[in-house]
Amino acid sequence: MAKVTKDKVVEIHYRLRLPDGTVEDSTEGEAPLPYLHGASEILPGLEAALDGRETGEQFTVTLGPDQGYETLLEAIPFEDLPEDTELAEGDEIVITDEDGENEVVGTIEQITEDVVIVSSPHPLKGQSLTFDIEIVDVRDATPLELEHGHAHDPYSDEEDDEEWDEEDDEWEGDEEDEWDEEWDDEEDEWDDEEDENEDD
Ligand code: ZN
Repeated sequence: MAKVTKDKVVEIHYRLRLPDGTVEDSTEGEAPLPYLHGASEILPGLEAALDGRETGEQFTVTLGPDQGYETLLEAIPFEDLPEDTELAEGDEIVITDEDGENEVVGTIEQITEDVVIVSSPHPLKGQSLTFDIEIVDVRDATPLELEHGHAHDPYSDEEDDEEWDEEDDEWEGDEEDEWDEEWDDEEDEWDDEEDENEDD
């Protein structure tokens, strides 16, 4: 039985429940989610709860409001921004939320060749989060995964993309920020690598 330790790629099925019983997200009916353990790919509290466990284990962990999502990072392609907008890192920008209904104020974290990376308060910020987890598989990370600092999705045929890694490295240092569905949607368009598991 392989144990969940640093630099292992762990595949989990998960269900995320909110205090009111709503199932916010789940891999049910989908491929499990692979992540690189110890690389801050998932919430720190969730990663800590997985540490040292073994393939086949099932458990439930509840993260308090201060252990949940804080910030939503979104990569907005330039083509989706109004033309001749003057942008600078640190500027505030008004974006629409996940549902496209509400406007929220975000902060420009980074400007790349193709996208503007904007942070804004996560819609689940301040919520306590309950995860039902099943550990499906634990394996050694490949050298490439270790170099990239993330798991490569075996359920996707698509190739890894060098461009991503440059970006990844630059903003991965901010540990407060978590991956989320929104980001992955965007990522799909310019990275092609790991998706499949996300479900808005
Ligand atoms: Zn990669």
